[in-house]
Amino acid sequence: MKRRKWTICLLALAVALGICGCRQNSTVAAAEPLVLQVGPMQPVKPERAQLIGEKEAVIEYAAPLAFVLEYPRTSNEVINNQILEVVQGRKAEFTEKYDLKDENEKNRLSQTDCKMFLYLDYDSYLVSDDKICIVFHETQELGQEVMPIERVHVYHFDTNTGQRITEKELRKEGFLEAVSEYTIKYFTEHEPYKDRIFGNYKTTLAPDAGRFERFALNSEGVVFYFDQYDIFPGSMGMVELLIPYDKLAGMLNGVGVEAPPVAEEEVVPVEPVEQVEREIDPEKPMVALTFDDGPNPIHTERILDTLEKHNVVATFFDLGSLVEAYPETVKRELVLGCEVGSHSYSHKNFNTLSQEAIAEDIRKTAEAFQNAVGFEPILFRPPYGNCNEFVQANMPLAMVTWSVDTLDWRTKNPDAIMSSIRSEGNLDGKVILMHGIYETSAQATETMVPYLLKNGYQLVTVSEILQYKHGLQVEGGKYYGYSYFQ
Ligand code: ZN
Repeated sequence: MKRRKWTICLLALAVALGICGCRQNSTVAAAEPLVLQVGPMQPVKPERAQLIGEKEAVIEYAAPLAFVLEYPRTSNEVINNQILEVVQGRKAEFTEKYDLKDENEKNRLSQTDCKMFLYLDYDSYLVSDDKICIVFHETQELGQEVMPIERVHVYHFDTNTGQRITEKELRKEGFLEAVSEYTIKYFTEHEPYKDRIFGNYKTTLAPDAGRFERFALNSEGVVFYFDQYDIFPGSMGMVELLIPYDKLAGMLNGVGVEAPPVAEEEVVPVEPVEQVEREIDPEKPMVALTFDDGPNPIHTERILDTLEKHNVVATFFDLGSLVEAYPETVKRELVLGCEVGSHSYSHKNFNTLSQEAIAEDIRKTAEAFQNAVGFEPILFRPPYGNCNEFVQANMPLAMVTWSVDTLDWRTKNPDAIMSSIRSEGNLDGKVILMHGIYETSAQATETMVPYLLKNGYQLVTVSEILQYKHGLQVEGGKYYGYSYFQ
């Protein structure tokens, strides 16, 4: 993820003689010997990132806009309401600014017309026994020609009362001065910052210049965020700076100098789920149902109930972030003999991602599947169907699209979904696109499965369509576009 690229590990300085405690995420193995190295290749992600509460994810297409909003749900309702307000506020502001005002024009758009994206993800930290910190990272993509806009929103909460604690309440006298001095020294002495910092840094980084009002407390220190174009060239994106607690001793209210101890996570390898072999008659017509955007603990489960009842299978293209949240649903998909592929980690538009970001997404998604069900997906369905030549060249998984779009995400109407199937004519060899996260899609499945069976179709997986209709074994890195499923 781009924002992490520029995070600086100042903790490395503090422990220059020993071991680097920085980890990119919780799965990176034990601490590595330190070579003092700061810059883009040395990201900070404290052990306790994304520790607070359960992750919620909302994916919504409202062409031309699309939203992928992730946020935590904690055990404290007062905090949850404030978090929801933040999320809804971001969404409302984006909609107000960029949505089409003409409803008729809007209704003519399809999923592939989603051109403006609002992404919200977060890190959360346990600061002390009674304080948590949530950092929302917002990215707005407004088109391929424009640089994405990045923003950061920081919230600290008191876990006893649920009330928000402002950064002003957290800092004591001398804080701004100490931070200013430290930041100037750091940025003017280290690569890649010292040659790129704008000439007026003494003014922009002065204690009272407003650059240090926003900060996040994590388990290792205080993180400051410098907006794109503010003190560095825009190509550096948003720059983050972590100052270890011991450099700011006595300057924070109610936050110890020591970082809380890190609990070791026990890693239990997950056994791959065993699948039952099914018999397929190559002479009989066959069709593949596919469900994207899940797993969803209610609606995907209901779809699975239907499949189980009729003893048939489908293909699920699941999101890594939701696989982490609902591993049991993915397990059930596999136990019922369904095919499970990746739909990316958090539904980003791959046509705008760098090679590095694509690789990072694949890695995170593979890890989510490995942890949940003990295998890594081979099939990939690109979000929004966006899979340009650059994506194809950088994607090691087999990319598959569809041939019948039910538009279930837009109509949210079981009858409309069914009529898109009925009006399609011969479905032999086709791949039907649905989404596993809507009640109406689950309802439509209850009618669609018996309808297809009654009309003589076998329900097979996407890989089986490629095998039986095209004599192909799925190959990584290959693009199986629309022409394969006609
Ligand atoms: Zn999708």
